[in-house]
Amino acid sequence: MPRFPALICAAALSSTVLSSAVVPTVIVGARLIDGTGTTPIEDSVVVVEGDRIRAAGPRARIQIPRNAAIVDAKAKVLMPGLVDVHCHINQPPDEMKRYWLAQLRWGVTTMRSAGNDKPETVPLFRQTRAGDFLAPRSYTAGQGFNVSGPYPGAPTFKPTTPDEARSSVRELKAQKVDFIKIWMTKPLFPPDVIAAIVDEGRKQGITVIAHVTDVASLHQLADLGVTDFLHNPIDQPVTPDLIAYAKSKKLTFAPTLANIESRWFYYEHPDILNMPMLQAALYPRGRQMLADAERRAQTLSAPDLAQRKTRMREQTYPFIKAMSDAGVRIVTGTDCGAEASQVTPFGHATHREVQMFVEAGMPPLAAIRAATLDAARVITRTEDPEYGSIGAGKVADLLLLDKDPSVDIGNTISISRVMRAGAWVP
Ligand SMILES: [Zn+2]
Repeated sequence: MPRFPALICAAALSSTVLSSAVVPTVIVGARLIDGTGTTPIEDSVVVVEGDRIRAAGPRARIQIPRNAAIVDAKAKVLMPGLVDVHCHINQPPDEMKRYWLAQLRWGVTTMRSAGNDKPETVPLFRQTRAGDFLAPRSYTAGQGFNVSGPYPGAPTFKPTTPDEARSSVRELKAQKVDFIKIWMTKPLFPPDVIAAIVDEGRKQGITVIAHVTDVASLHQLADLGVTDFLHNPIDQPVTPDLIAYAKSKKLTFAPTLANIESRWFYYEHPDILNMPMLQAALYPRGRQMLADAERRAQTLSAPDLAQRKTRMREQTYPFIKAMSDAGVRIVTGTDCGAEASQVTPFGHATHREVQMFVEAGMPPLAAIRAATLDAARVITRTEDPEYGSIGAGKVADLLLLDKDPSVDIGNTISISRVMRAGAWVP
C-alpha cells in the first residue's frame, strides 16, 4: 500500500494547477539512478522546487521540507529524462507540438533536430527551452547542408562555392539556430565547401555536427575540428588506430541504430506497435506503413532479413563496445521523426537505442549515462550540464519507472510518470 495516498493526489494536483514553484514535490523511496553511471542509491529522497532539484540522496541525509507534496516511489526507480541528440521534426508547428508531447510522454526530455527545419519553425525550438509550451527541451540545426538529400524536397542548403557556403552559415546565424548540420553522404560537397562551412561556423560561434558513415569523411571533418558525429563509420571495422584517433580528438558518436532497426522491429513487435503511445509518436504515413499487412509480410519474409540484422550488428556493435570501453563518448541518437524513414517513432526509438547499446556490450548503467548525462554533455559541450543527471541544482527532468532498468535495460519503458522542469507531464 502507498504510504501517502492522500498526498499523491496533492502531488498530481500540484503539477498541473499549483506547479512545484509553490509546493515542493518530494519523491520518496525510489531506487535512484542519477545518470552519472555510479551505483544507484536505494531508498532515495529527491526534493524538487520550481524547475530545479533542490536536494537528492539517501533518505537519511535529505531533509523533507514541510508542506511538500510527497510522492511515494517505493519499489520504483527514478532516473533523469532521456536525451536524444539525433531527431527530425519537420512538421507544421501545431503538429510539431503534438509530436513533442508524444516524445515527452515517452520520457525524452531533451531532443536535437538535425538539419531539416524550415526557418519559420526555428523560434519554436527556443520556446521549448523557455517553457512556453510543454515539450522536450529542443535544439535545432535549422536547414542542414546536403547536396541532394536526405529526401526529395528536404529543406537544406546546397552551396556550390565556399562563398555561398559562408553566406548560408550567416543566414543560419541570423535565424539563431543552435547547430549546423553537414551530411557527408554521396554526392559529397567539394572539400573547399566543407572547409568553408566549418570555418564560418566557428567564426559565427555555431557548433558543426555531421552525418558520417566512412572513415575518410570522419578524418576530413575531425581534422577541421568537428567532434560531434551522427552514425558511425561502417566502411571498415573499428581499429586501434581509429579508437586512438577518436580519443585524441575527443570525438563523440550517436550511432543511430534505431533508424536501421525500425525497418523491421515494429513489424516484429505488434505488442509495442499497438500501444497508443507508440501510435501517437508516428507520422500518419508511418502509421499507415506499419499497419500495412502486405508490407509487414514482405518485410518479415524477406530472404535477406536475417542477413540485414547481422550486418547492422556487425557494423555497429563492435564500434560501440570498443569506443565506449576506451572512453570515447557514445550517446543516444535515433533519427526519430525522420521523413525519409517514417517508421522510426519519437520516444520509443530512444529506448531501443539504449537497449541496443546494452546488446552491444555496454553495462546498463553506462548505457543509461549515454542516454542522459553524456548526451547532455554532447549537446551543451560542457562537462557539467544543468540537465542529464539528478543532483542538487540540476533541472528536474525526471523519469519515474515501475521496473528497474539496471537489472533489465528493457525496463526503461515501464514509465510511471515523467517530470519536465519540475512539473509532471499530464
Ligand atoms: Zn538524421
